[in-house]
Amino acid sequence: MRTPLERSALAGVVVAILSSCDAPGIEPDSPPFFDTAHVEAAIAYFHEPSDAGLQRIAGTKATQHLLKHSAVTGYFPPTVSALELASNLTNARPDLEEIARVESLLETIKAAQERQQDCIADATDYLPEGHRFVEPLYITWGYDIGASMNGSASLNLAHPRFAAEPEEIWLYCTHEMHHAGLTSYRAFPFAIAEIRTARQMLEFIRYATMLEGMAVHAALNSRRLSPAPETDPDYLALLDPPRIDALEESYWEIYRRFEDAGDRSLTDEDWRQLELLSDGDRLWYRVGAMMAREIEANMGVSGLRELSRHGPDAYFREYQLTR
Ligand SMILES: [Zn+2]
Repeated sequence: MRTPLERSALAGVVVAILSSCDAPGIEPDSPPFFDTAHVEAAIAYFHEPSDAGLQRIAGTKATQHLLKHSAVTGYFPPTVSALELASNLTNARPDLEEIARVESLLETIKAAQERQQDCIADATDYLPEGHRFVEPLYITWGYDIGASMNGSASLNLAHPRFAAEPEEIWLYCTHEMHHAGLTSYRAFPFAIAEIRTARQMLEFIRYATMLEGMAVHAALNSRRLSPAPETDPDYLALLDPPRIDALEESYWEIYRRFEDAGDRSLTDEDWRQLELLSDGDRLWYRVGAMMAREIEANMGVSGLRELSRHGPDAYFREYQLTR
């Protein structure tokens, strides 16, 4: 497997041969790697609020991507319009200091074209051979920390985590762009609000385990080389064999709960169990990434990256073959 440093060098060669727009993972005629229109429109709006300013935020491609994300995840009510979404994200007026912090981060990332390219290439390394992104990474103001849905992804530059540790921007870039890639081959199976039965929940868990596990795994080489990898609890768990074994045991216990329940309707306790997977011990991130690591050891990186195309059934089957 290529290390990020080797990949950087290779990307440099590719750029030299093909011109900067032809780097792996981005269509030759595509816009820049990052699209900052949303966050720039929000900053302008905060400096001088107006209806036209709000319309500008609502009219960005990033807003279309966020609406797509919200429709599946229920982040906002299903009837939300582009203008309402823009208004909601800018409701809490930041003070001048916060705006200045985000402006400074924005300058940093806009100047770092090579790092934009590198973090997207790290995601491409774990997507099927020849993968091409159709859309850039949208840089937004105010929506979660990042979002991705069926082919597109974004990062919220105003999230406090990025101000506290700007390196995280590049790691999240890889994570979210991997989601954008994988969901372009295997779309979300259904809107989360439509999940009614244990069987549907199991399908969702299997999908999310692959989606989150592969994204964590794709960013792991960069995480290892980042200034303080040990500050990331997922990274620490993955390097601690007794801990990851215990997490895997908890994961399968929850998994079997839904597997055994068939078409039973979901209870409040079922939704609490889901929180252990997505929050708390972050089981589907950590156990999912451990699965990716084992699959890669067994079938090589070329086999693992192809699984993005084939979905959770193939992912779980390949993992079982490693046991
Ligand atoms: Zn994720």
